[in-house]
Amino acid sequence: MAKYANIIIDISHEKLDRTFQYKIPEQLQQSLTVGMQVLVPFGKGGRTIKGYVVELTDMAEYDVSKLKSIVAICENSVPIESHLIALAAWIKKNYGGTMNQALKTVIPIKQKTVRKEKRTVCLNIGMEEAKEKLAQFKKKHSVARVRLLEALLRDGELPYEVVTQKLNVTLSVVRALEQLGIVKIKSEEIYRNPVKEQEKEQYRLSLNESQKEASNTILSDFNQGIHKTYLLHGVTGSGKTEVYMELISEVIKKGKQSIVLIPEIALTYQTLMRFYRRFGDRVSILNSRLSAGERYDQMLRAKRGEIDIMIGPRSALFTPFSNIGLIIIDEEHEASYKSETVPRYHARETAIARAKMVGASVVLGSATPSVESYEKALRGEYVLLQMPERITKKPLPKAHVVDLRTELKEGNRSILSRKLQELMEERLQRKEQIMLFLNRRGMSGFVSCRLCGHVIKCPHCDVALSLHNNGKMVCHYCGYEQSVVTRCPQCGSSYISAFKAGTQKIEMIVKKRFPQASVLRMDADTTKKKDGYEKILSAFANREADILIGTQMIVKGHDFPNVTLVGVLAADLSLYVSDYRASERTFQLLTQAAGRAGRGDKPGEVVIQTYQPNHYSVVTAANQDYETFFKQEMEYRKMLCYPPVWHMLVVLVAAKEEGCVIALAKQLKQIVAEKKVPDLFLVGPANAAIARVNDIYKKVLYLKHENYEVLISMKDLMEQFLNENGKFGDIMVQFDFNPMNGF
Ligand code: ADP
Ligand code: ZN
Ligand code: ZN
Repeated sequence: MAKYANIIIDISHEKLDRTFQYKIPEQLQQSLTVGMQVLVPFGKGGRTIKGYVVELTDMAEYDVSKLKSIVAICENSVPIESHLIALAAWIKKNYGGTMNQALKTVIPIKQKTVRKEKRTVCLNIGMEEAKEKLAQFKKKHSVARVRLLEALLRDGELPYEVVTQKLNVTLSVVRALEQLGIVKIKSEEIYRNPVKEQEKEQYRLSLNESQKEASNTILSDFNQGIHKTYLLHGVTGSGKTEVYMELISEVIKKGKQSIVLIPEIALTYQTLMRFYRRFGDRVSILNSRLSAGERYDQMLRAKRGEIDIMIGPRSALFTPFSNIGLIIIDEEHEASYKSETVPRYHARETAIARAKMVGASVVLGSATPSVESYEKALRGEYVLLQMPERITKKPLPKAHVVDLRTELKEGNRSILSRKLQELMEERLQRKEQIMLFLNRRGMSGFVSCRLCGHVIKCPHCDVALSLHNNGKMVCHYCGYEQSVVTRCPQCGSSYISAFKAGTQKIEMIVKKRFPQASVLRMDADTTKKKDGYEKILSAFANREADILIGTQMIVKGHDFPNVTLVGVLAADLSLYVSDYRASERTFQLLTQAAGRAGRGDKPGEVVIQTYQPNHYSVVTAANQDYETFFKQEMEYRKMLCYPPVWHMLVVLVAAKEEGCVIALAKQLKQIVAEKKVPDLFLVGPANAAIARVNDIYKKVLYLKHENYEVLISMKDLMEQFLNENGKFGDIMVQFDFNPMNGF
């Protein structure tokens, strides 16, 4: 029984930096838990105020005689904050870092902001007149005006943010139409329904058999108070979003709220409007463009019960709803669900932890589930629900796998294979659209042979070696290095080098080969400007270009009905990043890219160009065969003891002085090694993927064990050592469990 409690006073102010310690009176020692709200004396006058328990301990940090006692546990229903604090404690335990870092992750910090006026855009003229204007604008090719009018004719009113951010119509266009008397910007109607009532009614679709089966399974559990985690494995277009909405509306009927996580890049105008049309003003969205103040406002609306549904990326998980019934994670395999800053939590695991605390259900949806989740589903830890067919029963696109080695041998040195060129020609003649996709995840400099496809790998880790500027090839998992080779060890050819081809270069090649085509390019450069991303997508959707060239940004959830050809230029670029998830990523990217073709009435084709036509992730993606991919991938993970078979903990140590970094990393390794934990795999220190950034040296230790809890206890051990020896000055130590984003 703990004797002392560390308490945070008044969480709404920015006093998260400091906790205060109190004695726990004997009569409360049984019942007090982390996260509870309590009354404590505070300050000189001894007035009592509310605080939250963030930690229970037996160690007094101060002179015990000076510690005051907790007065009482607050009686009222469990406050929202208390379960978020409990969740913060869970995050700290599972991912490392300080309690303050965890608290700042889960609790929005109050900001002094001017409350922004909420605005909606609506038609100021009758439907008939609006249709006439639309026809005029179409003639003049005023695309933005056309886009706005079409949307307003369809939906009546639109939230201002949706118009400017998602529909990508600029303020000046809206203003111009306002001056012409065509539209009106209404303010104040803040939380009113932005969508016409009858529209809401019309929207109901009747679910098909597999949709019904999935939603009935979840709801019948839900209605019996059984809350599990469900994995909804459904091909793109199988109607998953429709199932989510069905579940949400049932959850609302029970007076509970829902959180929907969607990766920001996949949260498109179309998807967003489907939620608005069905649920009107009971929906709110979070995105990274919101200021801290705007975020806080959204969170406040949730807390006050003004909304039932929060949609957003990772951080929307911490919406302070008082009575959560359902958490949905769409595209659950996405790497963006893992935080890239401390605490490096995974939204999926954290969602499940939050749901357990409050008795909510979790639905994970994906066309290409993560290996982790699928493995859990097969073991019965999650409930597996399958939707194997597209709603429209449209066939999945036909895939051609092209061997780039053969192209080279037969004299074609272009990055565009002959098959791809032929099909592109055909599409351009038929005025259909084409997407060319360059898989860029592999740009970290692996070395491969263009003649035979051989890739130089680490002899110990089965991941590609990375070419560093010093002319050495290095393994980021174990530190192995060797000099760069000039001849292929397999076939002896001298066509061996680090693969270099950016989207810009490809744009040049395509323009030269097809001078008649108009080309759009989407990559980090062209999307730098605010809205660049949405702009390019809507231009392409409006058929302002024949060909869209891009990186993985273009493969996410957009519907371009006129696209009938997708070319993947070098499918295996992502196979050789120094990451055990490389095959999984490749499979997911290829499957998604292929899914872009043939969404409309015309059937689609995909050309997958690769140096590894027989690699299982290429073959299974071309056949859209998830099961076979999963089986082969699990074999590989088993053989090399990678997650989900074993678990992995990466300890990152970084500072300006390389010597200090190495010394501390070695010390940490020593502490772990001394425990002599059976079967613990421990290597390092090795260089991090980027070994030096801004003169900060980065080293990593790798730990692997079958049991996640063992890794947590090793993390605790190292944290304890660091806390007790707080003299490491500027050396940073971070923990990353089952890393997703490299390190
Ligand atoms: P997913 O989320 O699995 O990609 P969606 O829910 O977006 O699939 O559905 C794909 C398309 O099919 C959407 O245009 C959607 O409106 C439509 N759709 C979904 N379910 C039905 C249904 N039961 N009846 C008719 N159309 C449907
Ligand atoms: Zn070779
Ligand atoms: Zn290695």
